[in-house]
Amino acid sequence: MLPYATVEEAAVALGRNLTAAESLWFSYSARKSDYFLYCHNILFLFLIFSLVPIPLVLLELARSSGLLRYKIQPKVRLSLSETLSCYRDVMRMFFLIVGPLQLVSFPSVKMIGIRTGLPLPSGWEILSQLLVYFVVEDYTNYWIHRFLHNKWGYEKIHRVHHEYTAPIGFAAPYAHWAEILILGIPSFLGPAMVPGHMITFWLWIALRQIEAIDTHSGYDFPWSPTKYIPFYGGAEYHDYHHYVGGQSQSNFASVFTYCDFIYGTDKGFRYQKKILKKLKEESYEKQNGGPYHNSTQDLKSD
Ligand SMILES: [Zn+2]
Ligand SMILES: [Zn+2]
Repeated sequence: MLPYATVEEAAVALGRNLTAAESLWFSYSARKSDYFLYCHNILFLFLIFSLVPIPLVLLELARSSGLLRYKIQPKVRLSLSETLSCYRDVMRMFFLIVGPLQLVSFPSVKMIGIRTGLPLPSGWEILSQLLVYFVVEDYTNYWIHRFLHNKWGYEKIHRVHHEYTAPIGFAAPYAHWAEILILGIPSFLGPAMVPGHMITFWLWIALRQIEAIDTHSGYDFPWSPTKYIPFYGGAEYHDYHHYVGGQSQSNFASVFTYCDFIYGTDKGFRYQKKILKKLKEESYEKQNGGPYHNSTQDLKSD
């Protein structure tokens, strides 16, 4: 809810005319309560969980040989009914845990100072805050995830998320209810440390979930724009964690690779990549009688 009755009043308060984005925000939010605006997250999460993985499902059903080479575990194939069953479980958790959690967490959002008013944040402000949120989430999630791989944490809670040894997009939020609650902390910590505008908060919640769907997609596309994000883990990185399963002591981080590098928990992954690369080179040289040139002959398999 904005404390101005008209755009003119808002312009006087700001000491300048509203930008196009601010006028749009004014006409949309001026008469809506902050609580209602916050609850938009529920709709966004529902749409993201339901729609973003659909292209991946279609890809999986088509099994086009051209794209199959980008599937990280090509031998694993989930039927449509198995995929729908995963979606059903995720939706059950969404309506029982994620949605209600959003409904009741509004006081903390108010307390940390997420604002809904004018002026709107600049693009740089949004980008820098999102960067902080991702880094804080990644670091905190790393340690919680690592803790969940102790015997008790894994058996009682984290085992559920690892039911998919070859993850799919729909399985990104597939987890025990307690894990969903616990992992709300890293998501909330960044905005609590550097509170921003509600629009930044919406973007953060949406992008974090899209990122999780990407890392659980089961496909590693060389043309993915995320390849240009420094230290970004991506699908292949997290897929290895699921592939190894409960015994995994590798690749705990949710977004970036630097925590696993610093704390030495990416050794298994790096060793496997090295071995697969060597095998690929040997098989190429055996077949072609010549040396393997990585830049031109690299196929996705490492
Ligand atoms: Zn795990
Ligand atoms: Zn996962």
